[in-house]
Amino acid sequence: MKAAINKMIPLSVVDGPGCRTAVFVQGCNIACAYCHNPETQRLCNGCGICVSQCPAGALSLSGKNVIWDEAVCTQCDHCIRVCPNYASPKVRWMEAVDVWEQISKNIPFIQGITVSGGECGLYPEFITELFTLAGNAGLSCFLDSNGCVDFTKHPKLMAVTDKVMLDVKAWDSQVFHRLTGKDNSVVKKNLNYLAKVGKLYEVRLVCLDGESSSGPSEDKEVDMEDVIRGVAAEVNPYLEDFKLKLITFRNYGVRGKMENRKSPTQNQMEKLKELAVQCGFKEIQIV
Ligand code: SF4
Ligand code: SF4
Repeated sequence: MKAAINKMIPLSVVDGPGCRTAVFVQGCNIACAYCHNPETQRLCNGCGICVSQCPAGALSLSGKNVIWDEAVCTQCDHCIRVCPNYASPKVRWMEAVDVWEQISKNIPFIQGITVSGGECGLYPEFITELFTLAGNAGLSCFLDSNGCVDFTKHPKLMAVTDKVMLDVKAWDSQVFHRLTGKDNSVVKKNLNYLAKVGKLYEVRLVCLDGESSSGPSEDKEVDMEDVIRGVAAEVNPYLEDFKLKLITFRNYGVRGKMENRKSPTQNQMEKLKELAVQCGFKEIQIV
């Protein structure tokens, strides 16, 4: 079973607990206005625009396929910046066993693996195969997901997944739709399901500057306080079982209407944390 792999980080300490190998798949089912790695959103359509602009001559076209010569590439990322399709020519379609072969070299140094993206939920069969191999080797297996693929429909994947790090990007459906282009009913379904089966590791919320609880939801880009209150109410019996991660928006890598947006202040982040404490969250992290 193959997946489009954007990159692999052999040793990561920011993609779940301990030291882990992180695998980033290509392709996403939503398009967040604040996406900080927009080049993972879509698959290459072979338009060829990046090919002639590669300063190292690392790219060539074969029909509609872009060929990337990793040995020649200087990793300048110019190809990513000029791609109008939110894609990357540096993506490889890889079998789960081949990804596992690379990960297994890190076994002495890692506690587990995390599959992120893009959206990991777009490749359930691939990840099931990969996690089965990793689990047999004693590694913990985590997903990092935007929550827009219904995990209840993938029991085989869930059987080999230890925990999920779940984005809850907005609570009001209209706010969520404006931010991502999609509906958030599946996110809430996943939130409930993962909490109930004990597979929720953390809920992540990207926090923007200048959004407050007062005012109607139609004026908001992210309803952060509603997310905090909403998650606390929705999965209240399980608040001791997972972490709330409040992510400070940073515009690095962002394209489009939020690319010049400033970050919230530490004071704004601390106020959100205070609200989370009041709502009953036990473990809250600001990053
Ligand atoms: S990162 Fe892209 S543009 Fe830069 S050398 Fe590699 S293939 Fe070429
Ligand atoms: S990576 Fe982007 S610019 Fe390059 S061929 Fe693919 S779609 Fe076109």
